[in-house]
Amino acid sequence: MSETADFLFIHAHLFTMEGSGVGYVEDGAVAVRDGLIIDVGPTPALQARFVATETIDASRHALLPGLIDAHMHTPWAVVRGVAQDVAHWMQKGLAPYARHLHREAALAGSWLNVLEALKAGTTTMGDFAHPIDGWAEIFAAVGVRAVLTATINALPPGQMASWRVGDLYPFDDAVAERCIREALALAAEWHGAENGRITVMFGPQAADMLALDHLRHIKRLAAAEGLMIHMHVAQGDREIDQMVKRYGKRTPAFLEQIGYLDDQLLAVHLTEATEEETAQIAYSGARMVLCSGSIGIIDGIVPPAVAFRSAGGLVALGSDQAAGNNCNNIFNEMKLTALFNKIKHRDPTVMPAWEVLRMATIEGAQALGLGHEIGSIRRGKKADLILVDLDALNLMPTLTAPIRNLVPNLVYAATGHEVDLVMVDGRVLVRNGRVLTVDEAAVREEVQQRAWEVAAAVKRDPIHLDMALLQAMDEGKL
Ligand SMILES: [Zn+2]
Repeated sequence: MSETADFLFIHAHLFTMEGSGVGYVEDGAVAVRDGLIIDVGPTPALQARFVATETIDASRHALLPGLIDAHMHTPWAVVRGVAQDVAHWMQKGLAPYARHLHREAALAGSWLNVLEALKAGTTTMGDFAHPIDGWAEIFAAVGVRAVLTATINALPPGQMASWRVGDLYPFDDAVAERCIREALALAAEWHGAENGRITVMFGPQAADMLALDHLRHIKRLAAAEGLMIHMHVAQGDREIDQMVKRYGKRTPAFLEQIGYLDDQLLAVHLTEATEEETAQIAYSGARMVLCSGSIGIIDGIVPPAVAFRSAGGLVALGSDQAAGNNCNNIFNEMKLTALFNKIKHRDPTVMPAWEVLRMATIEGAQALGLGHEIGSIRRGKKADLILVDLDALNLMPTLTAPIRNLVPNLVYAATGHEVDLVMVDGRVLVRNGRVLTVDEAAVREEVQQRAWEVAAAVKRDPIHLDMALLQAMDEGKL
């Protein structure tokens, strides 16, 4: 007797990401029913067992778990590319735009970024943003998996551009309290929504952006709600400078003191963490997000992910924001992560392709606390799957012996544009490279218009005269 399935993928180069490597199955098959993976194995065995509503011939394709982007700020896609190659990126590059990022512009950026990531095979998006009306709804409408974090800080909005670099930021308690209320409301409405596809974390933006009382309060609230904390940690010399001036301590020691270092912490960047601090954070059980492209462009630094992994910590990959990194594409992050770390350590054996592929899938899922549901292709897990076209010129030829070249090519040669099909929760969201759930043309038109509105407002604001890139423009270099 045959069993029924909604989908049966057959004849794939299957990477289950189970075990300690990539879990390769030649001529592999996956059966999906009611949003779940119900069987995985060789094609002949699954064909004999299942009758599917749709059989997808995955010949000449790699079948992988959907990729995981643990740290994004999707609204910033509306000002992609305006703040690169500058010192003091946040204050001198981004802040003039932050003053004029109105609601419709932020939403347009999120729509753009979500579609960009989805089409490049990202199925889980860890977005960190102010929870304006309509933001969470984007992830619900597109159909992707999302881990949403509402930004909590105490910084008077729109003022950062006018502060002198090195001065202590002013805190406004009313701002922090409003952010905390918004974060609680987001959790109440969206944690576990869409049949569990959308979950929520708490997001104190960074240790230097909130007063001590509020940081303690947020930790208590997160523990009471059973939510993880998603937080930038030691994200730049600017942060360390603020912490030393305010508390006489660097961020890791401060976080240890106030009880933040535990397995409920998703620590983003660790740009300025020393080897010892990195190990201390990893030993605590906290997880790390590595944003290679973003921190490379913003700071010219390779964060200490090798040290974090050596200390036994879990590392996920993140694309951060398009105003710094320019693209939100985990294929790009995998390649940059492998390259940057080889260069940093002057050792080509550091961060091999299979290792970064694990960080983009199963280890990323574990870092987000979702390893039991996603990140590998295993019976009982959610059907978040992607197909990558191995007939793309840059991925040919395909060899399986004596050396299998598929994983190195996926990491070092793929761009994300080879992703043909994306499935989340057993629903096909992208087919033949086209998004099925929303009107992509409308998203393009909206973001172009909103970006010009923001740009015009920045141009009218005298603060823009302080932007470092204006000089390069004047000299005809940009
Ligand atoms: Zn960030």
